[in-house]
Formats: sequence, structure tokens, C-alpha cells
Amino acid sequence: MDARKITKVLIANRGEIALRIIRACKELEIKSVCVFSTIDANGVWVRKADESYLLKGDPIQAYLDYKNIVALAIEVGADAIHPGYGFLSENADFAQYCIDHDIAFIGPKPDHIALFGDKMASKIAMKAVGVPVLGGTDQPILEMDAAIRVAREIGFPVIIKAAFGGGGKGMRIVKKEEEFIPMFEAATKEAERFFGRGDAFIEKYVQNPRHIEVQVMADKFGNVIHLGERDCSIQRRHQKVVEIAPSPRLNPKVRNELLRASKKAMFKLGYESVGTVEYLVDEDDNFFFIEMNTRVQVEHTITEAITGIDIVQSMIRIAEGEPLPTMQEDIKFRGYAIECRINAEDPKNGFIPSSGRITTYLSPGGPGVRLDAIGFKDYVVPTNYDSMIGKLIVVGIDWDGVVRKARRALDEFIISGIPTNIPLHRQIMRDEDFKNGIFNTTYLDKKLPTFT
Ligand code: ADP
Repeated sequence: MDARKITKVLIANRGEIALRIIRACKELEIKSVCVFSTIDANGVWVRKADESYLLKGDPIQAYLDYKNIVALAIEVGADAIHPGYGFLSENADFAQYCIDHDIAFIGPKPDHIALFGDKMASKIAMKAVGVPVLGGTDQPILEMDAAIRVAREIGFPVIIKAAFGGGGKGMRIVKKEEEFIPMFEAATKEAERFFGRGDAFIEKYVQNPRHIEVQVMADKFGNVIHLGERDCSIQRRHQKVVEIAPSPRLNPKVRNELLRASKKAMFKLGYESVGTVEYLVDEDDNFFFIEMNTRVQVEHTITEAITGIDIVQSMIRIAEGEPLPTMQEDIKFRGYAIECRINAEDPKNGFIPSSGRITTYLSPGGPGVRLDAIGFKDYVVPTNYDSMIGKLIVVGIDWDGVVRKARRALDEFIISGIPTNIPLHRQIMRDEDFKNGIFNTTYLDKKLPTFT
């Protein structure tokens, strides 16, 4: 086993996740190195890293040019790279390139990144290790008649998905056979535009599902644990807005089955590092695997809040060749946690991303409140990147209490100068259905017109 202490981590990312990784490094007494685009020069994370280096050129390409990033890592003496989420985090070639250049890649093995980067291949792999998956095609759709035949067999509605997609892009729900061809064309076009690969497949569309995902963690010695589940059903157009751990209304038997199935699958596949196994749970409590994310997720924070385990630090330790920080039996789940994604977007104007200068920034605090955010007075929010400028996480002993805490913290959070979705979060936390734990992935899109 190539156990090797990491002394300096280059963070191939930006924004709140860069800051999160810097914090993990500081607590482990490991040096942190940031890279930043010309547009990100004023980013708070750039100032908080031990060293920061400008990446010239296009502000998005700068974070994707991995050969340049690895060359820089070597030049500045970094012995590891953390990819965060998005950008290069699920690029198997990048992970391999790091390894080939003697830089530890803080994440899973390239083979697993490649496998799970393909949603269709991952379904086949998970089915083979005993995890239930949704019916559908297991080849990219090349021949339209055959695809329609499969759709007819599984029954409409079906969903067309980009095999290499993410972020809710390249997905179309098809209610009737007549809609199939135009929907298919739209999905593949979108997939081609966003992911450079138009491959699409069909899957049974689940009515009113809950999105439940399991956090897993595995070391290089074959030890695997789960850190419980998260309920990410509060979504707008298939994108997560609020996440909760644990799920407030999940049947305990289903929970146990989900957790056990995830852990067993990861063990059988020889997975390493952290990852998230995502499922849909239908109205009859059947669960189906939909995809696996081979990286730290935005919402890892709520799992940290209820377990006390630092997921980012654990990733670094695992990459060093250390065993898992804890055994399954020693993990204590305490209370509930909620994360609200704070986006620079305008809920009153179709949620279009907002950019510009923040003129007031008063952050919430107090008991049970964690803020992973990059805003400050006079920070200019750029339009080039994802609109998320922070995450508000609250933790409490019981569900009612944690919802009240979220409300209180959101009321304290004042950002002016640019519109944000804080008012939307305030409404969700006051909604009776939400308070009663009655929601599925259709909740927010249905509620939106009733929110003022
Ligand atoms: P992405 O990788 O783009 O986020 P996912 O496959 O993870 O796509 O799905 C995102 C969301 O889309 C799910 O949480 C759910 O709301 C919806 N979804 C995906 N597959 C289905 C399905 N088969 N039936 C119903 N909803 C689905």
C-alpha cells in the first residue's frame, strides 16, 4: 500500500468548495494552494489559502485545463490535488493524469470515476451487485423504433436521460408515444451542447418520487461505511435547493435496506474514497438506484452535522492511505440538519442568475448554524459560474426545532445589492407541508406559484 503523507494540496476549484477544502487542510495542518481565474481574483478563498496562483485565459477553461494545473502543482511542490465538485471532479483522465505525475488525486480510482460517469453503465454495474434499478434501455438509443418499443413495454411516462449528463440537463419526460421523437431530439441536442456527448437512454418515469441518497466512505483496505441518508427532494427543475439529513419521513425498513444495499455494492465494487449513491423512492416505498456521484457533494455538510465526521478531511486521509476514521458501529446519528443553497438568482424573475456588487452582507450565526459562503460587502458576484454563493446549514435535535432554527437563521441573513433566493427559503421553511415532512421531487415546482 502506497501510504504517503500529504503536505500540500492544490485545490482545482473555486467558490465555497475551495474554501471548504482550505478549512479541512488548515485543520489537518496541510498547506493549501489555490488557483484562480482573472475574474476570481477577489474571491475570499483566494485570500484564505496559504498560496494562490492566477490562471490566465478564459475564466472557465482555466479551471478545466488540467495539464496546466498539474504542471503548476508540480512547480509549487503540491503533492496532492483536490478537485471539489463540478469542473474536473468527475474526469477520469484527469485523475489518471495526476497519478501518472505522482500527484495524489483526492478522490476515487479513475476506473470508478469513468464507470459512474456513464449513467447507463452504472445502472448495469449496480444491478449486477444486487441494487434495484429502474427498467429501461441499457444501450444508447440509436434506433428510434426499437427505443419506442422499449418505452411502450415499460409504459409511458418514461424519461429520456443523457448518459453522461448532470445538473438536470439533457432530461425529458415523455408522457405519450407521439411526443417521443421530438423529446428525444431535444434531449440529445441539449446533452451534446452541455456534455459533448449526445448518448441518451430511456428509463421508467417514477411519479412523485423522493430523492434519497446515501453517503458512503471507503478506504484502500476494503473497509466501507455509510454515513446515513440525505433527502434531496426539494428541487426546482430537477436541481436540488434544500437538503435534509436524515429524511424526516422515510420508512425505517426502507432506510435500512437502502443503507445496506449501498454499502454492500461499494464493497463488492472495491470503491475507494467518498461517494454518494442516489435513489428514487416511489409512493409504495420501492427504491431504485439512479446514479452515483464519485466526489464530495454540495450537501455533504448536513451529513457532517449529524455524524460529527469531517468528510473532506476523511477524503484527504484516505488518499494518504489511512484507514477509515471510524467503524460503522461507532457512528452516532444525532438530530436533523437542513441545508439551504443560497443562490444569486432572482425568484421574482424566473430565477435568472443575478450578478453585481453586494452592498449589504449580514451573515447569520448562533447555536447550530454553519455558513459555508463566499459573500461579503462589495464582493462582485460574477456571471461566469454557478450561481450558488453559499450554503446555510442548521442542525438541531428534533425536526420542528431544526425548521424553526432554519427560519431564524434565514431571517438573520441579509444580502442586498443583488437578488438572492433567501426569500424563497424563508417561504419553504414556513410552509405547512414542508414542516410536516410531506414533500417529494414535485413539491417545489408545484408550490412556487403559491409563494409570493
Ligand atoms: P442529474 O445527474 O442531471 O442530476 P439525476 O439522474 O441525478 O440527474 O436526476 C435528477 C433528478 O431528476 C432526480 O432527483 C429526480 O427529481 C429526477 N429524476 C431522475 N430520474 C427520474 C425518473 N426515472 N423518474 C422520475 N424522476 C426522475
